Amino acid sequence: MIHKSPWVSFIDLGGCNGCTLEIIEAITPKHDLERFGIKIVGNPKHADILVVAGTINTKSVERLKTLISQMSKPYYVIAMGSCAISGGISRLSYNSKGPLDKIIKVDMHVPGCPPKPEALIHGILKLLGGIK
Ligand code: SF4
Repeated sequence: MIHKSPWVSFIDLGGCNGCTLEIIEAITPKHDLERFGIKIVGNPKHADILVVAGTINTKSVERLKTLISQMSKPYYVIAMGSCAISGGISRLSYNSKGPLDKIIKVDMHVPGCPPKPEALIHGILKLLGGIK
């Protein structure tokens, strides 16, 4: 019943850590992501949903693919923030591998730089609504 009690994991592949800070904020008592039945797990191998933040670069792209290959199916991917969605401030860098959805299947985009915790929670819930 993934749409009722999904396990969610996060990975930052090369951003400024602003998105990571907002992810942490989303699980604090103020926003309390887990009140929706969403469990945060540290290992993406155990997750139903992977939230990816940061600019994908030459080093992280293969690691991301390896990690994705280890997730149980069905799994879903959320691109969080401008860096993951478009390459962000580093999109013209020689080291940027471009938007996340050019590399792997992305099911939901949560825009912003960084997106607010409310936006991340909204994106996860919208994705769950679609799965249902
Ligand atoms: S989207 Fe903005 S806040 Fe998030 S990692 Fe990129 S630069 Fe930082």
